[in-house]
Amino acid sequence: MKALNNYNFSGKKAIIRVDFNVPLNDAFEIGDDTRIRGAIPTILKVLNDGGSAILMSHLGRPKEGPEERFSLKHLIPDLEEKLNRPVQFAPDCIGPEAAAYASQLKPGEVLLLENLRFYKEETKGDETFAGKLAALADVYVNDAFGTAHRAHASTTLIARFFPDEKMFGLLMENEIKNIDKVLRDARKPFTAILGGAKVSTKITIIENLLNKVDNLIIGGGMTYTFIRALGGTIGNSLVEEEYLDMAKTILETAKKLNVNIVLPTDSLNGDRFDNEANRQITPASDIPGGWMGLDIGENTIRRFSDLIENSATILWNGPMGVFEMENFRNGTLEIAKAIARATRKGAFSLVGGGDSVAAVNQFNLAGEVSYVSTGGGALLEYIEGKVLPGIAAIRGY
Ligand code: AMP
Repeated sequence: MKALNNYNFSGKKAIIRVDFNVPLNDAFEIGDDTRIRGAIPTILKVLNDGGSAILMSHLGRPKEGPEERFSLKHLIPDLEEKLNRPVQFAPDCIGPEAAAYASQLKPGEVLLLENLRFYKEETKGDETFAGKLAALADVYVNDAFGTAHRAHASTTLIARFFPDEKMFGLLMENEIKNIDKVLRDARKPFTAILGGAKVSTKITIIENLLNKVDNLIIGGGMTYTFIRALGGTIGNSLVEEEYLDMAKTILETAKKLNVNIVLPTDSLNGDRFDNEANRQITPASDIPGGWMGLDIGENTIRRFSDLIENSATILWNGPMGVFEMENFRNGTLEIAKAIARATRKGAFSLVGGGDSVAAVNQFNLAGEVSYVSTGGGALLEYIEGKVLPGIAAIRGY
């Protein structure tokens, strides 16, 4: 497999799948440009070698055909500024115009193609459509980790047209390296912290992690399904009745595998799902009727923090409580701080998944953990142990 940094792009046209799916406001201004910033090193490597870059991406979820508000042309000024050069734009990602733009591209020049998802063939994984994109370039680079779990034309099928000339971009390489550090080469003790609303969405992740971790800390809404399964009283807390047996099985498997599953011992409850709700702390297994657990309690924070600070590898996905509400965000904040302290002491910490990333950003702690994954769904599927089609297509299996 080729590595981008060892490849000489001189005189080559590289088609790069980037993830420019950024939030745009009504004036088409970019809300958070993290994804664009993330793709710049790969693009610059190609350009600085004396190659040209053809950029392709999706933006939003257009329903049928082109929609002005999802046009990638809105990104041109920002991209020109970041790349410090003009960016040409093909108003259709395939067809004669795109082909004409691509064929006249000179070394050091950049062409941005219109939104791939203006064609349903993109998400359908249509090979003919992928072939038309492939025909524009000599080399294929995939730098869109966020869509690596989808077998779309531009993330997977297109690789077939570049049997040798295909590789990961630097962002994607970095994501894989950092996640593998946790999933394949974790230093022990390895502690995973899982939170968020539901057990049902995290079962496969839990099952896969049980074979790897020493400690599995569980917080957030999914706590209460476990506590209920153990016979506790949980008041009106979130519970998935149909997953009680599954929760029991997970606890038994953990015991067999010698994994320390750590559940909250106390719970900060509200009398309704509202920031202004009345609050009380009770044992997590003894929540009175009319109350619901919305965050972890002080004792739990201390126990979780201790374990985290004594870990060498930490993986965190999902908030410890309803952190969007100020009165119930302390547990999530304190766990983020404990991860930052552990990192300072030498642990490797990876934070991933939309809500935990939002939390570390909100707390200004993103710079104090080892790695923040941009992955979302792709990261979660990777942790589940699935082969991601976008990765397989480059590696050739
Ligand atoms: P997920 O997408 O499964 O990671 O869930 C994230 C969501 O879980 C966030 O919006 C949190 O507000 C929510 N959440 C965390 N703890 C609780 C809780 N105890 N009760 C209800 N929702 C929660």
